[in-house]
Amino acid sequence: MPSDIQPRPGILDIAPYVGGASTLAGGGKVYKLSSNENPLGPSPKAVAAYRAAAETLARYPSSDHADLRAAIGKVHGVDPARVICGDGSDEVISWLCYGYAGPGDEVLYTEHGFSMYKICALAAGATPVAAPEIERRVDVGNLLSACNDRTRLVFIANPANPTGTLLRHDELTAIAKGLPPRAMLVIDGAYAEFAEDYDAGLALVEARENVVMTRTFSKIYGLGGLRVGWGYGPAEIIGVLNRLRGPFNVSSAGLATAKAAVLDVAYTAHCKAENAKWRGWLRDELAEIGIASDEAHGNFVLARFGSVEQAQGADAHLRKAGIIVRQVKGYGLPECLRITVGDEQSCPLLIGALTEFMKGRG
Ligand SMILES: *Cc1c(COP(=O)(O)O)cnc(C)c1O
Repeated sequence: MPSDIQPRPGILDIAPYVGGASTLAGGGKVYKLSSNENPLGPSPKAVAAYRAAAETLARYPSSDHADLRAAIGKVHGVDPARVICGDGSDEVISWLCYGYAGPGDEVLYTEHGFSMYKICALAAGATPVAAPEIERRVDVGNLLSACNDRTRLVFIANPANPTGTLLRHDELTAIAKGLPPRAMLVIDGAYAEFAEDYDAGLALVEARENVVMTRTFSKIYGLGGLRVGWGYGPAEIIGVLNRLRGPFNVSSAGLATAKAAVLDVAYTAHCKAENAKWRGWLRDELAEIGIASDEAHGNFVLARFGSVEQAQGADAHLRKAGIIVRQVKGYGLPECLRITVGDEQSCPLLIGALTEFMKGRG
């Protein structure tokens, strides 16, 4: 019987987010290279802070996150007063949509953009719009052409997920300068720490009134299970987001663990160096066996196969070898597989299995 109880328009258009698979039929050891997690795990100091937090679980957490914001300010060179911490950076993305876009407004991202932008736009009742990319790269001209007086938010992940490509500072600046007056540029820096010579868009946030940056503890900090992220931007915008934020949105364990993680700059540098080493190795080895990929700026490589069938065959072959990577059909890249950069154990295993696959097919 049809019910009169119906959600707001747009909600049923949301295709729920699908995370990377983590198990395979048959058990056995699994190498999970499907969710861009840090293969080295979090800093041992972060783990110690998490354990210590067990002693104070009866207490509510800080609601202003002052200690964590101060630590972020110190390490990243930002003003702690304009940092806001979320239940993952996904929460910051959703506040931006709820705070700035509603029915009749447009939320813009690009062809292969991260799926949370569309989900959050629809949840807020706004209209999601995707601008075409060129060769898996955000194109400034296409993006600005897709803007109009209904555009409120423009989301760009830089480096992008799942393509791994990076816009230069001058390109980001051109976007920020070219936006209509009521639109804001959100630079999603989930993978910013892995890129060379990149400030995550910080100079642009500081220079302009219409740019916000989001960051996360889920990727280089190895804390995807903890759910902590943050945003940084003009005081007025952060003030709006703080009105939408639940008072205890980050747990006490989350605050203490993230603080210890961000302060352990030597460990972060180690993770960055290991990632760069294995990322370069993976690209070279893939090229060697005839699998193309773009220069990768995050902690994953987008492997491009000759056809959709070949990509699916490779995925099936990897699964048999206990290796899970990510199919990116949903991102309009059915001939590609997104492969998280692993460690000294999983990277050679992956290349071994793909070499076998590429030989066997001829
Ligand atoms: C992983 C990822 C995030 C981070 O999400 P969290 O909620 O912080 O775990 C944000 N944006 C992109 C593009 C990502 O790939």
